[in-house]
Amino acid sequence: MEELTHVAFALLCFEIFEDLNPMSAVVLTIFSILPDIDHSSSVFGRIFRWLSFELEEKFGHRSITHSVFSLLLVFLLASFSKDLSIPIILGYASHLFLDMLTVSGIKLLYPLNYNSVILGGPVSTGSIEDRLIGFSSSIAIVGLKFFNLL
Ligand SMILES: [Zn+2]
Repeated sequence: MEELTHVAFALLCFEIFEDLNPMSAVVLTIFSILPDIDHSSSVFGRIFRWLSFELEEKFGHRSITHSVFSLLLVFLLASFSKDLSIPIILGYASHLFLDMLTVSGIKLLYPLNYNSVILGGPVSTGSIEDRLIGFSSSIAIVGLKFFNLL
């Protein structure tokens, strides 16, 4: 999925359960695109080019940063912050969920049985479906935030 789709979907998921505030939105945005640090053309891949290159070279895209073990690490990190734990976990988890819908999927149990557990779906990154998810998430956020539809 494209980064804007990840951000819009994560913001929507958060807004459904809690009222979005600026700090939560920033943290949610960061963690919704952080797993793609293993891809050199992503935002964090361009910022941390050396790390991105190492991750991509050694493990491949959507493997170590898209596994249940990285999510557990994020859970651990989030446990240190009471106020931001939900945006941290929700941002990261929503990224993994959306990438499960993509054709190439994610290696959820990487490094265990990484070739046998690839969860994937019908959506190609950058496709009309990808952008439709991002666009409809954005519209839903506006509806929830400004028209109190929930
Ligand atoms: Zn990803």
